Amino acid sequence: MPPKITISPHKILEELYIKNLELVRERRRINEILQQVAEVVFAVDENYKITIFNTSAESIFGVKEEDVVGKNADSIIKVFLKDQPFSIREYAFKSKAVLKTINQEKLTVEGNLGNKHYFKLNFTNVDFGGKSRECVISLTNVTEEVEADLKKDEFISIVGHELKTPITIIKNNLWMVKYLFGGKSVLSERQEQIFETSFEELNHLTKLVNDLLDLTRIAQNRLVLYVRDCNLDSVLEEIYTQFKELAVKQNLKFSKPKKKFGIVKADKERLVEVFENLLSNAFKYTTKGSIEIRVVKSLKSLRIEIVDTGAGIAQKDFPRIFTKFGRGSEGLKVHENGASTGLGLYVTKNLVEQMGGEVGFTSKVGEGSVFWFTLKR
Ligand code: ADP
Repeated sequence: MPPKITISPHKILEELYIKNLELVRERRRINEILQQVAEVVFAVDENYKITIFNTSAESIFGVKEEDVVGKNADSIIKVFLKDQPFSIREYAFKSKAVLKTINQEKLTVEGNLGNKHYFKLNFTNVDFGGKSRECVISLTNVTEEVEADLKKDEFISIVGHELKTPITIIKNNLWMVKYLFGGKSVLSERQEQIFETSFEELNHLTKLVNDLLDLTRIAQNRLVLYVRDCNLDSVLEEIYTQFKELAVKQNLKFSKPKKKFGIVKADKERLVEVFENLLSNAFKYTTKGSIEIRVVKSLKSLRIEIVDTGAGIAQKDFPRIFTKFGRGSEGLKVHENGASTGLGLYVTKNLVEQMGGEVGFTSKVGEGSVFWFTLKR
């Protein structure tokens, strides 16, 4: 029989007391750290009631921890996402995949003086061994970054608008010289070439200025589209006519579907711009083979594909293709059809999404790319 171990109840009590004290001290220490971090940190329980509210949260929301603990988070925390009230309840305890769509978004908090503070959002679900759960929300102050960005956007916007007038005047004057004063037949081949190059360069400049202006509109949620019934067949015809000469010049086979597709929901001018962006890329990055416009019809939408047999895109470049100023290795090379800015696809993505569609691509280096987008019918 093993020897009986006898511990006095007094000893047990003493041990328990010491352990408890250590635990309380540890909790206080962690709480102190949490209170002092610059980030705004608060947490909610499964009933969306506030459990933690640190000092930074107190100063941003203008309320004391003791007054908010146990209260419903959405009634206390007034934050905005893209000018719309943002609900903590809508995202707390959601799956990692859902949180991925919202984490890192910028939220706005209105200060007492009507000034705006900007915060980067982060939700983390904490599971206490299956017994209970809390959701910790942290907000990192990015006001300085956002304000610098706003100033930069304002500058681009002013310069962009200022550039538009001289560009239009130069364009009109060139047309006048070419057609009114000179008359096409009197121009020599060399003069003709000079005009053509000037027009092409002016078109690149116009595109660059328009993309920059769109960039600032996207940043400030001011990109306004007029989505209505739009005849896809006439857009396809227009765009085909616009690019067919270039195809001949580059010795590329260029085709569009023979079938008719009828009405889609789109802003016609912006839809033309989406086609222009995708096709000018296809022409820029394809030196032999073909460029094909394909349309796949389904019940509620249409999927439009621009298929090229060009340089393709390396897998490592995939994540940056649709980002602002994102260029792949092809974009970094010098091209005859205009310099790369990495703006076209960023603007395209925003345009398509605002028309209610999606964009994407598949690509293989050396074989070609398929850039696609969808439109509602
Ligand atoms: P830009 O062409 O002005 O650089 P975009 O935003 O239109 O800007 O394109 C971003 C990048 O995507 C390009 O730099 C290029 O590397 C890549 N890309 C786009 N379209 C194609 C294509 N059809 N084939 C190969 N690469 C492409």
